[in-house]
Amino acid sequence: MSHMSHPRWLRAAVLVLACALPALQVRAQLPTLGDTSEMNTGAERTLGEQIARELYRDPDYMDDPVLDEYVLGIWTRLLDAARTRGELTAELDDRFAWRVMLGKDRTINAFALPGGWMGLHLGLISVTATRDELAAVLGHELSHVTQRHISRLMTQQNRQAPWLVAAMILGALAMSKSPDAGNAMVAGGQALAMQNQLNFSREMEREADRVGFGVMTQAGFDPRGSVNMFEKLQQASRLNDSGSFPYLRTHPMNTERMADMQARQQLVPRGAAPPPDLVHAMMVGRARALSNPGVDVLRGYVTDADSLQPSAAPPRLVSALYAAALASSKLRDPAAAARYAQRLAGVTAGDAPAARQSVLLAAELALQAGDTSKAAVLAQTSASARPELMLSSQARIASGRAGEAAQALQTWVALHPQDAQAWQILASAYTAQGQALRAIRAEAEAQVARLDLSAALDRFKAAQELARRAGPGRGDHIEASIVDTRTRQVESLLREQALKR
Ligand SMILES: [Zn+2]
Repeated sequence: MSHMSHPRWLRAAVLVLACALPALQVRAQLPTLGDTSEMNTGAERTLGEQIARELYRDPDYMDDPVLDEYVLGIWTRLLDAARTRGELTAELDDRFAWRVMLGKDRTINAFALPGGWMGLHLGLISVTATRDELAAVLGHELSHVTQRHISRLMTQQNRQAPWLVAAMILGALAMSKSPDAGNAMVAGGQALAMQNQLNFSREMEREADRVGFGVMTQAGFDPRGSVNMFEKLQQASRLNDSGSFPYLRTHPMNTERMADMQARQQLVPRGAAPPPDLVHAMMVGRARALSNPGVDVLRGYVTDADSLQPSAAPPRLVSALYAAALASSKLRDPAAAARYAQRLAGVTAGDAPAARQSVLLAAELALQAGDTSKAAVLAQTSASARPELMLSSQARIASGRAGEAAQALQTWVALHPQDAQAWQILASAYTAQGQALRAIRAEAEAQVARLDLSAALDRFKAAQELARRAGPGRGDHIEASIVDTRTRQVESLLREQALKR
């Protein structure tokens, strides 16, 4: 189809994509800041869910308990601050998802999606020097949502079929990752038209800068993180225009914005320089090693750690050792991985949060090396937070203690029913115990958590079939009746979804 025949829906997709896409300079069709009409929150949430469902299926999506917990810690502080300042209204708070999805992609990108979902690429985490810098970017994106920029941009498009808008956003997201990936969905002239139209207005960017800065400082982050991050991105963009900085192409750092940012920062009293943040440095090392690097890059991380003197600055040292340990494991050298992890434990001893990350890494490496009993012991030494639970459950299943894993995970999913990974590991625990019906139900719940109701219904039906074949008077009655109830609930949700399309 030619883009001439579909100007409206093309524009719709373009507008919502907001921060995610390369944009040049078309402003004329965008509503101005004075336009107060907005897409209603329910419709925006539905659209966001359709996009999130596809992103969960993307092979680059990652559910990494360690990085998720770290990013969530920053994100939660920003949300609290936005509530305190009145930027996040009770309605939006309640209606939107407010979830950050991590992508393995090495490009430097962060983007707000409709309905309170955020995308964050590991490439962006990799280039931050402090958690304040990461907070600056997340605060900016958060503010695009709380200020209803996305909703306002979509106002003119809300008569479009949501699935069509969702498809276009996904195509455009794919395009922002690699120059060729999106071509199947958005061809030739359409892609160009999209790039030309996709942007927040300059006023919206300035508002997100201002509100985002207020939110990040209210949350207790160092305001210097804001200027440092944007200076860093600006410098990087001068050196590198190869497409690995999609964030910058959608957020051009003009002199005016930089001047605003510097002026704002000067109004905040300067505290003493904070102590070195070893945990952040470790998370940078993790993001680098997990962001789909090739073998040469992994070897580079090992060489880098070897070339460092023990007298190097602690953040530099722990970042390099962490990356080298994970890289060695990926290069199938478990002995080297254990050596780097051991050195890391030495450097982080005495810093409790950093020491915890060292232990978690050692447990993960032991699990990867097949030393499941060591992994189980290590993963249990700290408090029962999510990373510990996920690791110790996998280690227990692998070492013949699936019953213990299932018990701990059942308690967890009762409190966190949206935790897809917990459901998935629980399914493995049940399988290891020969409890097929429960395993299939857990798989179904994992699909519900990933918003894929059709896939969930498939699994629920399979569970019903299994229970039916067990015959009356046999099998697990309680589980069978839970399966029946959940099947009906998911069927009814699917009918509602079909009506909204
Ligand atoms: Zn922006």
